[in-house]
Amino acid sequence: MIRFNYPYITGNEMSYIEEAIHNGRLAGNGEYTKKCQRYFEDRWGFKKTLLTTSCTDALEMCALLLDIQPGDEVIVPSYTFVSTALAFVRQGAKIVFADSGKKHPGIDEEAIEGLISPKTKAIVPVHYAGVACNMDRIMELANKYNLFVVEDAAQAIDSYYTGRDGVQRPLGTLGHLSAFSFHETKNIQCGEGGLLGINDERFMKRAEIIWEKGTNRAEFFRGEVNKYGWVDTGSSFLPSELTAAFLWGQLEQLDQIQRCRKDIWNRYKSNLNNLTEEYSIRLPTIPEFATNNAHMFYILCNNIQERTGLIQHLKDNGVMSVFHYLSLHESLYFRDNYRGEELYYSNIYANCLLRLPFYVNLTPQDIKTISELIKDFYGRY
Ligand SMILES: *Cc1c(COP(=O)(O)O)cnc(C)c1O
Repeated sequence: MIRFNYPYITGNEMSYIEEAIHNGRLAGNGEYTKKCQRYFEDRWGFKKTLLTTSCTDALEMCALLLDIQPGDEVIVPSYTFVSTALAFVRQGAKIVFADSGKKHPGIDEEAIEGLISPKTKAIVPVHYAGVACNMDRIMELANKYNLFVVEDAAQAIDSYYTGRDGVQRPLGTLGHLSAFSFHETKNIQCGEGGLLGINDERFMKRAEIIWEKGTNRAEFFRGEVNKYGWVDTGSSFLPSELTAAFLWGQLEQLDQIQRCRKDIWNRYKSNLNNLTEEYSIRLPTIPEFATNNAHMFYILCNNIQERTGLIQHLKDNGVMSVFHYLSLHESLYFRDNYRGEELYYSNIYANCLLRLPFYVNLTPQDIKTISELIKDFYGRY
């Protein structure tokens, strides 16, 4: 059987965990946590980063940092994971859902302006499949209407955006704040984990306090204050050193992992390319301003019946494939409160997008088998 996901292990994780145990310090904000954070800061130029127990937690920290209050509005794409919206809902925000683009599952940048009201506080673009949204357009709107931008960069490690100024910048460094995930399904993983990226200096000090249960503990350990105590709201958003040590074993091999993943992506693409004309299925497209970090490979079927049939055909032959999000505005939790328009493209991706198995240990033979099964299905369909 070919699984849909298989978390890749570099082989160094255990020795770093053993070292953390040997050092005798296992709570959060230790040496491995700092190592992981420094990696992001030094390599990609974040002003500050904080390791969290998940991307969901990092997004919740964003909602606290932006001081989201009941009645504030936050613009979020409907085609995304629950956490993108839920982190703000927990602070009482009203979620205003935006449609996806015609050519890409990410937010339709041109739909955003019509959703902005005097109550709008933030826009949360999601870099779906690690492919950048049009950040110049989004930041332009944020500046015009005085809004914050939180990038949901859960899938976007080591992916970039080239701005109108011709400069290429890492995703997660463009908005005021950003959130990454190290869930076992992501490119770099530690089971469950995440990271908050801070690009606006106004949030740096408070983020550290919110991260450590509303206390100024971090300042205390740096010797900047001589007592530490309760100074703000917050929670326990930091992971233990065991998690950080595992993550370090992955991060230091990012480039090797990325090379493998890009090879897998390119193999799928070249194997399946000729199906696009024959059967009018679509493969992922990467806009000029974006890069591809090989987070996932998906195909867009023509309709939901076709997709259901293909999932079954693959399953019957031992290959696990999965569809992705259901539109959040039509979810059980939200749909009774939804007052907006029909989100046409979001529903198309919800019904037609199919994700193929994608992990470092997938062999060229596996990819060939999967591609042949897809061709076989369309040949008969
Ligand atoms: C995976 C993912 C999340 C959630 O990440 P966790 O680390 O599991 O909390 C949020 N948003 C998007 C777009 C994701 O893909």
